[in-house]
Amino acid sequence: MLEHITISEEDCIGCELCVSLCPASPCVFEMEDITAKIIHPEACEECMLCVENCPTNAITLSRSDD
Ligand code: SF4
Ligand code: SF4
Repeated sequence: MLEHITISEEDCIGCELCVSLCPASPCVFEMEDITAKIIHPEACEECMLCVENCPTNAITLSRSDD
């Protein structure tokens, strides 16, 4: 079970990669000005594409199960 997905606003450079890569429906992310925001965390499929491809490692996924 997904516990938490966060974006470091300090690190996000607004490249929009996470928005275009995320396969979830609805998309977990949305651009707000020049920063990606998490608007549908419950839709996350934990594919890790965003985490692995974010150029500044701004996205963190943590899990609650062991
Ligand atoms: S991929 Fe990373 S840097 Fe690019 S918009 Fe998403 S969070 Fe920001
Ligand atoms: S881990 Fe996958 S499904 Fe979850 S937000 Fe990132 S790209 Fe979307």
